Amino acid sequence: MPAPPPEPAAGRPPQPDRLADMTWPEVAALDPARVVAILPVGAVEAHGPHLPLATDRVIAEAMADEGARRLAARGWAPLVLPAVDYTAAPFADGFPGTVSVRPETVTAAIVDVASALAGRGWRCLAVANAHLDPAHLGALAAAADRVREEGRIALAFPDLTRQPWAGRLGEEFASGACHAGRYEGSIVLAARPGLVREEARSALPANPASLSRAIRAGQTTFEQAGGPRAYFGDPAAASAEEGRERIAELGRILEEAVLEAVGEPVSASEPVAAGAAPAGERRR
Ligand SMILES: [Zn+2]
Repeated sequence: MPAPPPEPAAGRPPQPDRLADMTWPEVAALDPARVVAILPVGAVEAHGPHLPLATDRVIAEAMADEGARRLAARGWAPLVLPAVDYTAAPFADGFPGTVSVRPETVTAAIVDVASALAGRGWRCLAVANAHLDPAHLGALAAAADRVREEGRIALAFPDLTRQPWAGRLGEEFASGACHAGRYEGSIVLAARPGLVREEARSALPANPASLSRAIRAGQTTFEQAGGPRAYFGDPAAASAEEGRERIAELGRILEEAVLEAVGEPVSASEPVAAGAAPAGERRR
């Protein structure tokens, strides 16, 4: 007799549906008009001596999962897609392990994925992006323009570096001294604690140099911007508790952007407790 499926750990919300883990008949059973595909977008990029190169994917997937739980509780059928890892990361290119591709490659990948999903009749593509290199954000904005112009699928792409979103993610994020610091470190501590090099993290001095200011001043690398070890902000101040709050907020941001993209009133968006979408309402 086959073993019963493992119970989800007590107190943890169920994992949202991941497209790549499903079979085609399971996908065929969904109402395409209710499907919201969520695409986590990260990077393979240096994040200090204490966080993994895939830090932005960890954050993007946490955002995607949290947004998916919230949307599922509203009767949507969210599917979390396999993440886009290979993106443009010229700021971090001087550090071993960073893999930076051309911005055009990123734009083309997003446009092509959107086109494939539109062909299935799915309602919405939501881009859960956590990688903030300006070349990459430009590539995503170009993709968003193309997808919206073609008009075949609704697109949600909350650019976290812009208002109204940028002010909702804490002081460090708003200061622009935000790369592998308190904000990102907290989220990785909450989502994938085993990936954090705790001894290194807790000993790092804060680096208050603002990346956003450096970008406005025309600088193009972490080294020029005052981050010789590829981190900005205050890694030692990170905590899992703060990470859980940030993830909840990222999920709300994604949910709001999706509701706006599909033309559903956002004002009705408060019935769901953060981080705790009712498990019983999931479809399986
Ligand atoms: Zn990052």
